[in-house]
Amino acid sequence: MRFGNQVDVPTLVRVKEGALDRVGIYLRRAGLNQVAVLQSQGLVSPLPQRLRTGLRNEQIQLACWEEVVANDMESAIHTFTLLPSKVNAILGVGGGKALDVAKYVATLARLPYLAVPTSLSNDGFCSPQSSLTIAGRRRSLPAAIPYGLVIDTEVCRQAPHELTLSGVGDLVSKFTAVRDWKLSFHETGELVDDFAALLSDGSVHAFLSHPTLDQYGMRLLATALMMNGTAMAMCGSSRPASGSEHLISHALDQLLPHPRLHGIQVGVAAYLISLLQGENSSTISRLFEATGFWDHVAKDPFPRDRWIEAVSLAESIKPGYYTVLSSRDVLPEVEQLLTNDPHLQRAIRA
Ligand SMILES: [Zn+2]
Repeated sequence: MRFGNQVDVPTLVRVKEGALDRVGIYLRRAGLNQVAVLQSQGLVSPLPQRLRTGLRNEQIQLACWEEVVANDMESAIHTFTLLPSKVNAILGVGGGKALDVAKYVATLARLPYLAVPTSLSNDGFCSPQSSLTIAGRRRSLPAAIPYGLVIDTEVCRQAPHELTLSGVGDLVSKFTAVRDWKLSFHETGELVDDFAALLSDGSVHAFLSHPTLDQYGMRLLATALMMNGTAMAMCGSSRPASGSEHLISHALDQLLPHPRLHGIQVGVAAYLISLLQGENSSTISRLFEATGFWDHVAKDPFPRDRWIEAVSLAESIKPGYYTVLSSRDVLPEVEQLLTNDPHLQRAIRA
C-alpha cells in the first residue's frame, strides 16, 4: 500500500495579460528551443501570428506547426510518429481538441508539454487525461500533466462568452464532486484524499470571492481550473473534479442530438445535484446569477424529457462509482425539482 502522494505538477505557470506574446521568452529560459506546435483548427487571427512572432524573437526553432483537425487516437499517433527527432518540447495552443491531442503526443514522446489555452471552457487543459476518440467513441486516456501553463487572461476574456460560462459550470461541479466522494467514503469506505479535495474545493472559493469575468476574475477562474486538474493528478482519480453531475453530462452527450458545451451541461447538473445533496445550491446559484450563466442557459433551454432520461441513465455510466444517485431512487425528487425550482424551470423545459 502506498502512503502519501508524489506527483508531477506544472512548474511553469504564467496567468496574465499578454502572456501569449511571451511564450518564446518562457521557452528560452527553460532551455527548450526546438518546438512542435499543435494548434486548434481555425484559431482566430492574430493569435497564431502573435505566438509565432514571440517565438521568432527568442530564436525558438519551429520543428513543425500543425493544425489539429480531429481528436482521434489514430491522428494523435500519426502526429507522434512524424515528430522530428530534434524536438524538445510540445506546445498545444487553442481549445479542447488541440490541447488533448498535444498533451497525448507529448506523453507518448515523453517530452515537456506546454499548454496555451485560448479559452477557459473546462479544466481539461491541466488534467492528467486526454479525451480522444477510439473507433468513434470518446475515451479518457491517461496523459502526463503539462510541464507549463501559459494563460493569457486577455485572450481568454475575448473568447466567446459561452466558453467562459462553460468553465464556470465545470468549476462549480467540484462542490458536488467532492460531496459525492465523501458520500462514497461513508457508504463504501473509499478513501478521500483530503489534500486533493481541499485543493479542488478551495479553488472554487477563490473565484467566488470575485465572481466577475474581468481580468482579475479570469485569472482566478484559470487558476481554479488548473488546481482542479492538479488535484486529479494528485490522487490518481477523477474524484475531486467529477461526480454525479459529470455522469449526467456524459448521459446527455449520448441522448441529446446536439449536446451543449461540457461545462454548460455539467453546471446545470451540478446545481440539480447540489439540491439532491442538500448542500451548496445557493452558492452555486448566486455564482450563476453573477456571471450570467442562468440567463445564457435560459436562452436555449434543455428538453425536460432528455434530462429525466439522462438522470436515469447516469448511474450505469460508471458502474461502482458511488454518488448521490446510488444512494436512493432520486427520480421522483428530480421531477419535482424540475417543476418547482425557479432556476431549473428556466434551464430545462418541457
Ligand atoms: Zn469537467
